[in-house]
Amino acid sequence: MIPASFDYQRASSVDEAIGLLSGAGEDAKLLAGGHSLLPLMKLRLASPSLLVDIAGIQELSYVRQSGDHLAIGSLTRHADLSRSEAALHEAPLLAHVAGQIGDPQVRHRGTIGGSIAHGDPASDLPAACLALNASFVVASPRGERNIAAADFFRGFLETELASDEVLVEIIVPTAAGAGWSFQKFNRRAQDWAIVGVAAVSNGSTRIGLVNMGPTPVRAIGVEQALGQGASVTEAAQHASDGLDPPADLNASPEYRRHLATVLVGRALEEAAQKKA
Ligand SMILES: Cc1cc2nc3c(=O)[nH]c(=O)nc-3n(C[C@H](O)[C@H](O)[C@H](O)COP(=O)(O)OP(=O)(O)OC[C@H]3O[C@@H](n4cnc5c(N)ncnc54)[C@H](O)[C@@H]3O)c2cc1C
Repeated sequence: MIPASFDYQRASSVDEAIGLLSGAGEDAKLLAGGHSLLPLMKLRLASPSLLVDIAGIQELSYVRQSGDHLAIGSLTRHADLSRSEAALHEAPLLAHVAGQIGDPQVRHRGTIGGSIAHGDPASDLPAACLALNASFVVASPRGERNIAAADFFRGFLETELASDEVLVEIIVPTAAGAGWSFQKFNRRAQDWAIVGVAAVSNGSTRIGLVNMGPTPVRAIGVEQALGQGASVTEAAQHASDGLDPPADLNASPEYRRHLATVLVGRALEEAAQKKA
């Protein structure tokens, strides 16, 4: 339960963080809220040689409306996102999801950027980002690039981020008036989701699923069925089409498939009721 030894550097700007990362090779890791990275280090599942602490970079903590989208700094804490007026109005699904993460301690340390960069299929915000058609701005010595959430998650805890890239901003198309729902099934209020469903209906419907594969995934089968005129009940039957849900102490793959069908049905009904 004690991590391997590592060097520690505190960055006070994005440029400084990029410089420290690129000077250290593939073995360095950014430290944001530390709520996912430090447990991995204590279990010795991660042993970075250098931690670059970005938690104090104030310029990366904001939620702003900018034209047709919401711009969210990657160091925005879950608690701040859940209370942001701009998020509550323009992307209420995201604010609501942030308020359901863990317990108050987790929400006051964990950041949206850390949650996305970690790429954990059990995390809630990545699934919400898929449903909201979000994209991610990342910076490196080569400049900035924008990656769609749909292209970002590659494998278990594996993303498109290169070792010298910093996730700086999350861009969420505004969806005021859209129908939305987040269904999180867990045993105790503060637990991770056994299965979660984030849905957004705005003309068409997009659905992100938590804990239904090796990465955060979309329920493409449901989206296509709805597009072809299926009822909610019929469409929900496609919740796990093409997906390979994991087995763990909480649930078998079969139980997760059943949960996904039930929760997708509930999410679609609630999203339809909420639509302005
Ligand atoms: C008890 C507990 C309960 C939890 N419950 C939930 C839950 O119910 N739902 C949920 O979704 N999550 C849950 N979490 C996870 C929590 O949301 C984490 O805070 C989050 O997943 C990671 O954010 P962080 O800022 O702590 O990242 P860190 O742990 O600091 O970093 C995670 C990874 O992302 C990288 N990284 C961080 N920031 C950046 C960046 N800007 N650019 C590039 N890479 C970056 C790091 O190098 C590291 O690899 C829980 C955590 C704990 C400890």
